[in-house]
Amino acid sequence: MERQGSVKTIRELRLALDRQAGKKIGFVPTMGALHEGHLSLVGQARQDCDVVVVSVFVNPLQFGPAEDLAEYPRLLDEDVTSARGAGADIIFAPAVEEMYPEPMVAKVRVEGLEDVLCGKYRPGHFAGVATVVVKLLNIVRPERAYFGAKDWQQLIIVRKVVKDFNLAVEIVAMPTVRDADGLAKSSRNRYLSPKEREAALVLPAGIQAAAKMIAAGERDAGRVIAAAKEVIAAQPGVKLEYFSIRGPLDLLPVDVIAGEVLVAAAVYVGRARLIDNMVIKV
Ligand code: AMP
Repeated sequence: MERQGSVKTIRELRLALDRQAGKKIGFVPTMGALHEGHLSLVGQARQDCDVVVVSVFVNPLQFGPAEDLAEYPRLLDEDVTSARGAGADIIFAPAVEEMYPEPMVAKVRVEGLEDVLCGKYRPGHFAGVATVVVKLLNIVRPERAYFGAKDWQQLIIVRKVVKDFNLAVEIVAMPTVRDADGLAKSSRNRYLSPKEREAALVLPAGIQAAAKMIAAGERDAGRVIAAAKEVIAAQPGVKLEYFSIRGPLDLLPVDVIAGEVLVAAAVYVGRARLIDNMVIKV
């Protein structure tokens, strides 16, 4: 098994994996700057599989022109150490030219799911995600791939792509890992000053407020959203992008809360765009 450093090329990765023929491969795709959220996925893959591959690739295809591609944290040495510590066997960290040696003209689109919630504000983002995930799944050919519920829309889109294309992989969803005060762990939390980090707590607080109202019997999604928006608006350092209640699988807006619903929100805190969600069963 590979033990030091990271694998840079698809050829090298395939050679290493071909030597593991017959073993169960678990795969955790990431953009690096690994934190405990990512490492929970790696830990689960370690438990379930014989060989654990973690990819670290900041995928340009999923960033809009005005987004944070250039400044996105790149900490490969630390990532190699922490991924190995959590049980990764191989860290695949290709350069952009390795993944995209020529312009991509074939793209994976996921109609209906890619243009709502975050997709409405990040045009092309989920096509970029779906495209790189299909590439990575074809390169690694894992039996299982692990995704975090923190990026709920991404998880639903990946599941739909796997289903629609009959990809031979099982998608495993892992719960959102949070800091003790409730803020979901995110590579983008590194952008936050201490003051901004404090302000960012209104994001989980807004979602919690919605969850409490629903638990108390409120079934009118509009009223729940209005109350949660007030919670978030009370924090002047935070700019709300959206707060929405949707079907957890079809991502369609819900008027009357019943069964299972997704409560999802995105905010800007300074330059950091943060998202959070909760799936609530009534
Ligand atoms: P990223 O590096 O942001 O592309 O994330 C890579 C994977 O880690 C995705 O499947 C994310 O959903 C997952 N992930 C990121 N943050 C968390 C978290 N706080 N808890 C659980 N999974 C997470």
